Amino acid sequence: MQTHAESCLSELECPECSQRLSADRLQTFCEQCKSPLLARYDLDRVLATVSPQEITRRPRGLWRWAELLPVRNPALRITLGEGDTPLLPLERLGRGLGMSALWVKDESFNPTASFKARGLGVAVARALELGVREFVIPTAGNAGGALAAYAARGGAKAHVFMPADAPHPNQEEVRILGADCHLVEGLISDAGRLAAEQAREKGWFDVSTFKEPYRAEGKKTMGLELAEAFGWQLPDVILYPTGGGTGLVGMWKAFAELEALGWIDRRRPRMISVQAEGCAPVVRAFSQHAERVEFWQNASTLASGLRVPGPFADRLILRALRESGGTAVAVSDEQITAAQKRWAAAEGMFTAPEGAACLAALEILLETGQIGRRESVVLFNTGSGLKYI
Ligand SMILES: *Cc1c(COP(=O)(O)O)cnc(C)c1O
Ligand SMILES: [Zn+2]
Repeated sequence: MQTHAESCLSELECPECSQRLSADRLQTFCEQCKSPLLARYDLDRVLATVSPQEITRRPRGLWRWAELLPVRNPALRITLGEGDTPLLPLERLGRGLGMSALWVKDESFNPTASFKARGLGVAVARALELGVREFVIPTAGNAGGALAAYAARGGAKAHVFMPADAPHPNQEEVRILGADCHLVEGLISDAGRLAAEQAREKGWFDVSTFKEPYRAEGKKTMGLELAEAFGWQLPDVILYPTGGGTGLVGMWKAFAELEALGWIDRRRPRMISVQAEGCAPVVRAFSQHAERVEFWQNASTLASGLRVPGPFADRLILRALRESGGTAVAVSDEQITAAQKRWAAAEGMFTAPEGAACLAALEILLETGQIGRRESVVLFNTGSGLKYI
């Protein structure tokens, strides 16, 4: 039974210096390397405890994967129904592009209408387990709503720092969910500085992207679900709208864990980062064969989730793209808006601009021949277009 499933979390590891840290204390990131910490699991114990068939039989939702998630006490696995979003075929769009296997993983079905629910659901649950009662987060918009929702669900307090020009529904959502909403003149990077300051001063726990290890674990479940949905194989290509890169890095980690468990073979999708032309630090670093991202000045795009000028997990993002044989591509706001309309009218889905960016990028990569028309391709629609009105 799911309620008794045991987390096989063993420790945390810095991917840069390989330092191991206790997973049963509240941790942030590796101070020496300024790197995220990654959660490690006792995979032998996972194998001895559960089979993929058993996971498939469990009740729907992200906590089906409890052995590969960090929360030890089943009673603390708070949920609002996140995960197990539909993988839908895009037949009409695909046919128009001459493709035979085009899919969307539609993350707009998550609580708070974006995939931020996965990461924050898991991060908040684990932090509650380790004694946190007050959270702080900088956000481009959706992460603030998700933190506010899960903090409320867990009986904790949330403080959100958001650019003053973030979409209005994001601001309203945070307030209605009972969190403090602090509007910041500037970008998510400026909000991040303020959040870190307040965290130090007030003793709040900072759940900024990759500044703690468990949001990536929640987003990892997108990769687990994809493998299961494709019959314990993976598609040829994944297009992912990349801001902080949590989902990209999380899915890449999921695939490694599944292979180590022997649940999938070594074949991997090519991972493709999609960014906006007005904020494309990953695209620039990738094309320059750089190991680090350089801060993007004057970041600007209507796809607010992509307005992340200096992702903290830059090394992990770039490594996943390269190891997978993938690439990174930037699209303009005009291309995003046009793709959003085409997608909506053709398939009946009002995607977030970040999701629409994946369709625009797909069209470019089909043209250049970097994606073949017979390949199986998954686009990530990371949220609902209704949150941007
Ligand atoms: C945050 C966000 C992104 C970027 O996600 P990362 O995992 O941080 O790269 C993309 N789309 C939407 C809708 C978002 O809210
Ligand atoms: Zn380190």
